[in-house]
Amino acid sequence: MRYRMARDPLIHNADLSALSTFRLPARADQLLSLSSLEDLEHSALLDPNLVILGGGSNTVFLSDWPGLVVINQLKGLSVRDEGDEVVISVGAGESWHGLVRHCLDQGWYGIENLILIPGSVGGAPIQNIGAYGVEISSVIEQVICWDRVTRALKPFSPEACQFAYRDSVFKHMPDHRYLITQVDLRLSKTFTPQANYPSLKQALAQQSSRQVTAGDVTADDLEATASARVLAATIMRLRRHRLPDPNRIANVGSFFKNPIVTFEQAKTLAATFPQLPQWPVSDPSRGQGVKLSAAWMIEHLGFKGKQIGDAAVYTHHALVLINQGHASADDLEALISEITESVSNAFGVSLVPEPQLIKAPA
Ligand SMILES: Cc1cc2nc3c(=O)[nH]c(=O)nc-3n(C[C@H](O)[C@H](O)[C@H](O)COP(=O)(O)OP(=O)(O)OC[C@H]3O[C@@H](n4cnc5c(N)ncnc54)[C@H](O)[C@@H]3O)c2cc1C
Repeated sequence: MRYRMARDPLIHNADLSALSTFRLPARADQLLSLSSLEDLEHSALLDPNLVILGGGSNTVFLSDWPGLVVINQLKGLSVRDEGDEVVISVGAGESWHGLVRHCLDQGWYGIENLILIPGSVGGAPIQNIGAYGVEISSVIEQVICWDRVTRALKPFSPEACQFAYRDSVFKHMPDHRYLITQVDLRLSKTFTPQANYPSLKQALAQQSSRQVTAGDVTADDLEATASARVLAATIMRLRRHRLPDPNRIANVGSFFKNPIVTFEQAKTLAATFPQLPQWPVSDPSRGQGVKLSAAWMIEHLGFKGKQIGDAAVYTHHALVLINQGHASADDLEALISEITESVSNAFGVSLVPEPQLIKAPA
């Protein structure tokens, strides 16, 4: 793997607003841009008041940061051919979406359902990114981290990463001890469509029937409808319809995790709210339970389009909060409180934000 040398990795009194896709105004005392493994030895990395950033698509700055922000720009990709499979080692600062596209071009499969998720490769294992029935944990070979305490690189096996729904061991490390430098993925050279996610299945079926009606394909070709490229293009179309492009409308994707409740609680809720979508889950970190649709609960309470200052609930998707241009941290915090309190009062369920909310200690 090749890394570039940074010229001036540390800057003072840095503007952070463009480094988070929610784009609230904020500054950091110091900003360290990591673009080579040598930069890991920088004395600024000993600062205990540290925040690590990749693409900033799952991070919101609710205040200035009185310490160091590290932005990971370690690049590079190397490949180990293992016959039917490849193991790719990718620099944590590479673009996740760019990587998915590259893998499609090369005929390496396993992450095509995760296309168009913004952010960096290093940010992806942190919350075990998932979409359309696939999570990155299914292809992780290992995650390599810089341990700020021992000042050495340390590999984490998939088991050591403790992946769960939008969760991993890295989310629970005090003081950002581990900085991910490289992610290794095991991908297949054979495409096996993972198309059971309901809205994806439906979109592919509609597409096939349209093509057959138009005489474009034979029934035998229907299987091929789910070729990797068609699958990826379908997912991109679905995502563009539901989610705002962070380059145009500031947002961090889903703002709340879908809550997981006990079977008993789910049954009680189903009796009162039969339309509330529920999915049984088996999560190694939490045991068995039922996942509820946070979007449905928020929409049911009439929040779609609700606005406080310039912070608002996206009109096409109730789980997405947006910055309409000049939102302040106060606007956003007031909107979060109103939503979480209303959901708690109506459903007895606690909503937990999905993004990392950064606020200086009072
Ligand atoms: C429009 C939109 C759609 C989205 N769709 C999805 C989706 O479908 N599924 C999904 O799971 N997520 C989704 N997200 C959320 C987000 O894109 C992902 O979580 C992404 O992986 C975050 O990567 P990042 O590099 O931007 O992380 P950042 O926001 O930069 O960081 C997120 C967290 O990871 C930590 N971190 C980042 N890089 C490193 C590193 N190298 N070492 C240690 N810690 C690090 C940060 O400290 C922080 O805690 C979406 C976001 C947007 C804006």
